[in-house]
Amino acid sequence: MDVPLDDYPAGAALATELVITSPTVRGVEELADPVVLAALLARHGVVAEPTDDDVLAVRLLRFDVRGVLETETAEQAAAGVAELVRRAALGPVPVRATDGRWQWRVPVRPDAPLADRLAARIGLALGGVLRALGHERFRACEAPGCRGVFVDTSRAGRRRYCTPGLCGNRVHVANHRSRRAVAG
Ligand SMILES: [Zn+2]
Repeated sequence: MDVPLDDYPAGAALATELVITSPTVRGVEELADPVVLAALLARHGVVAEPTDDDVLAVRLLRFDVRGVLETETAEQAAAGVAELVRRAALGPVPVRATDGRWQWRVPVRPDAPLADRLAARIGLALGGVLRALGHERFRACEAPGCRGVFVDTSRAGRRRYCTPGLCGNRVHVANHRSRRAVAG
């Protein structure tokens, strides 16, 4: 696994999807076993065959990633990002892309445990968001009662929910009910 130095949307999406699998957000442990973890990673282009130990380590990583997304200041976020990156990232190297142009890529130690490799990938992405979009893109979900957090990499920066299909709809239904209650 090696990661482009400044291509953050994919790693940021992985960070968000990982964080919202927790019992804190979902009420149950969604990251239940290696099969679930492998499927989640596959959706983000990471091919892995996780073990039970990997699942436990990734749950701990999830806690650390949440910590970075909940930081109060950009400096705290930067410190958290540095810790994640250091777990498995090596120095950046110039690599020629398929279009012939050179780009910086960050190799990730191939012998590092899965959770450490994911930490590096997610850390690089969160650092990219911090640099390109700013700390305010690390957000808490606005749906009432939802404890989800997420990274907003949208162009406009107006994302409000950790899980738009779920939390957005919940708010929509609640608003609709209260309007009907007022009308009735
Ligand atoms: Zn939410």
